[in-house]
Order: sequence, then C-alpha cells, then structure tokens
Amino acid sequence: MKQKINVLIAFSAIVLIALSAMQYYLVKTAYDYKVEEFRAEIKDKIAKITNDYSDIDSTIFNKKDIYYKRLAENYIYDKGTRAMIKKALLSNDFKAELTRKLQQEFNQEIPDLKLDFAIVLNKFVIYENTKAADTIFAEKPLIGNKLYGDLASLDDAFLVRNYVGTTSGIANHERISSDYKLLTEDTLYVSVANWEQIIVKRMATIFVFAIFSILTLITLFVVAIKALIRQKKVSDVKTDFINNITHELKTPLTTLSVSTKILERKEIREDDAAFQSIVATIGRQNNRLQSLIDQVMSNSLGHSEIELQKEKVAANSLLLQIVNDFKVAHPTVQIDIDFPLNETNLTLDKFHLTTAIVNVLENAIKYGCRNISVKTSIDNNLYNINIQDDGIGIAKNKQLHLFEKFYRVEQGNLHNAKGLGLGLYYVDQIVKAHQGTIKVVSELGKGAAFNISIPSI
Ligand code: ADP
Repeated sequence: MKQKINVLIAFSAIVLIALSAMQYYLVKTAYDYKVEEFRAEIKDKIAKITNDYSDIDSTIFNKKDIYYKRLAENYIYDKGTRAMIKKALLSNDFKAELTRKLQQEFNQEIPDLKLDFAIVLNKFVIYENTKAADTIFAEKPLIGNKLYGDLASLDDAFLVRNYVGTTSGIANHERISSDYKLLTEDTLYVSVANWEQIIVKRMATIFVFAIFSILTLITLFVVAIKALIRQKKVSDVKTDFINNITHELKTPLTTLSVSTKILERKEIREDDAAFQSIVATIGRQNNRLQSLIDQVMSNSLGHSEIELQKEKVAANSLLLQIVNDFKVAHPTVQIDIDFPLNETNLTLDKFHLTTAIVNVLENAIKYGCRNISVKTSIDNNLYNINIQDDGIGIAKNKQLHLFEKFYRVEQGNLHNAKGLGLGLYYVDQIVKAHQGTIKVVSELGKGAAFNISIPSI
C-alpha cells in the first residue's frame, strides 16, 4: 500500500511538472507572439510617419545626398582608402541635426511610447560605368556604424526597416568624366523604453489565469496526497488497534474456555476449594473483559463528548491521594513527590482527572521505569503537574503522534507491553476538557516527562 502511494505521488508529481512545463511553454509562446505583435505595431506606425526619411527634412537630406556623392566622386578620382571614406560617412555634419529631427518626429507621432533609435549604415557601393562594382563598405548592422540616433546598443532594439538608396552622377576629373551609380543601404533600429512592462501588462489576464490554474492544481494535488496519507495512517492505526484488541481479548477468552472445560469435570465440582478457585478465575477474567470494553468505550471519547462533573477540589491533596493509592498497587516502584506548601483549589472532574493521572503513572511503569517523580507548581494562573519517569523514553519523531487515538510506539513489538493506544489519547482529551494542555519531554533511553497544565481560574 505504501509503495502504491509512493508510486501515485511520484506519478502525480511528474504529471504536475509536465503540466507546469506545458503551461510555461504556452505562456512563453503567447509572450513571444505579443512581442512580435507589439513590434509590428511600432513598425506600422513608423512606416506611416514616413516611407522615406527625406520627407522629414528634404533640405538636410539633399545636403546629405550631395555629401555622399562628393565622397563617392572623390574616391573615384583619387582612390583614397576605403577606411577614410567610411570614417567620413560616419562622422557626417548632419548627424546631430537629423537625429534631433527624427526623434522629434517620433515623439510627435507616437507620443505614448518613449522610443530611441539608431540608423546604422550597412553598405556603400559605387558602380562605375565601365568597371565592376566597388564595395567601399559592406557590414552587418553594427552600432559602431551608427549614422544617426541616440541608441548606445542594438541589444535591446529591433529592426524596423532597411532602406536602400540609389543615386547616380558624373564624376569629372582632368577632362575625363565617368558615370557612376551609388548604392547605400542602412537599417533603422528602435528600442522602446519599458517594453517588457508594456507586454506584461497586455498579458496580465493570461498570467493571472496561468498562475491561478497552476496554483489550484498544486493545491488540489497536495490536498489529495494529504488525504491519501491520512487515510492510509487511519487504516494502519485501525489495523494496529484490531491486532492489539484481539491480543488483549485472547487471554481472558482462552482462560474462560479452559475454566469452563475444567468445571465440566465431576471431580472438580466435588472439590469445593478447586471449584471456588476456578469460579474466582472466571470472575477475574470476566472483570478483565469488562474493563477492556469499558476502556475502549470511555477512553475513546473525544473531549467534546465527555461530560465533566466539576467540583471544587484541593489539587495537591487529590494528587497525594492518587499517588498514595498507586503506591499500594505498585509497591516496587519508588515515587517521589514535591508539592508546594500552599494548597491550590481547582474546579475539576475528580473521577476523570484521577483516571488520566493514573494512566500516565501506569504508562511509566509499563514502559520500564523504576523511579517516578511527581511535582506540582503554580505559575501564571496555571496549575502544572510534572510526572517524570526513568523508563525507556520516547524518540523525538514519535512524540508528535503520541496523543493520537490508537497510536502506539511499539508497533510490531506488541507482546512486550500490552495496550490499545488509548491511554494518552484519553489523558489529552480530559486535559483539553479542562481547557488545559499536555506536553511530553523525552528522549529515547532517557525517561519521559509529561507536563500537564490546567488553568487555576
Ligand atoms: P498504550 O496502550 O500503548 O500504552 P498510550 O496511549 O497510553 O497507549 O501510549 C501511547 C504510546 O506512548 C505507547 O504505546 C508507548 O509507546 C508510549 N508511551 C506512553 N507513555 C510512555 C512512557 N512513560 N515512557 C515511554 N513510552 C511511553
């Protein structure tokens, strides 16, 4: 059964992990889709602003085109280095002004978003009429090749558009003139401030739903597993109880059946002493059966079902009387007492509390003690009873269940100390019915101390 539960837990955990992974994948896909959608919106808006940068300020763009042409023509007749041309292109005089104008346009047309941009140059190719294309410059988009814009890095930016420009002209030099075409290609990159927050806001419903469904699933899983474990524990405890009670009932029943058989013998019936002895045995076993049944009936009541008959009682005197009576029944055990001189008057049920204290004392003997000490004290309106023994003690990990119904530590070792696992449950219920608390302090092999506290007012 335990193995079955473990397999079930492992299987459910795997399913839960798989479902979480799937949920994560779906949310991630939705997120990627929203990012793409957002970028498409921006691209669309920017495309609407202008299809050609020169719409923004044709004069400057004209100047820029003339500047490019001049660079191309200079290159054609003087064949300076390509690196020089690249440097001249990137450090053009229109940089600041065009950056400002473009930024202004974006701010005006898309006021609800804070955009930063960069236009990077990718290509600068000259086609001379008679010669093959001369690629002055061709690189992947790099922030180092920024023509305009304020962006410091392309990492967080996305590509909005590529712009390919062609112009043609005639380069005149020392009476030789040659036609040429100039091809430039640049890319516009845009980064939107707080874009992640914007996407997350747009996805709020999906996020809330995903988290809610996963949390609900985890809660259901935990509740179901807990219920399963609890049920398994209850069933274990019941099995233990049935084993214990069967064992307890066997002795008196066997004795009764043997005694009845003996009584059937004529010579026994004629021997008065033997007859009386057997009848006495039957009586004792009958009492034992009765007390077992009483124990199960009364000790298994919950504290809300117990009807207390409360009366004013001098607490120390009552305890002294209980200890003295107990000493008579168990003369071999040393019981020390330490009670304060002042008597404490409590309102309690004498019968039930006596039975509870006797249960604790009997357990001390049952679980191997030779010495018991009983102390009382009054502290913060609490009457404390401390019963300490030097018996086998209780391991820390078993103490949590000690006051549960039918719980016994020595499962599997039933014959050493008989019991039904009801004694401490009953004690706890009686103490609770008096609005008190009970705690155990113990270590395996080092005896056990039970501390009962009952409110004194
Ligand atoms: P039981 O009928 O088994 O004695 P109890 O409810 O009285 O049932 O006790 C529950 C378990 O607590 C016992 O099975 C025993 O293992 C442990 N126990 C109780 N009192 C003591 C004690 N004084 N020393 C060691 N173990 C104890």
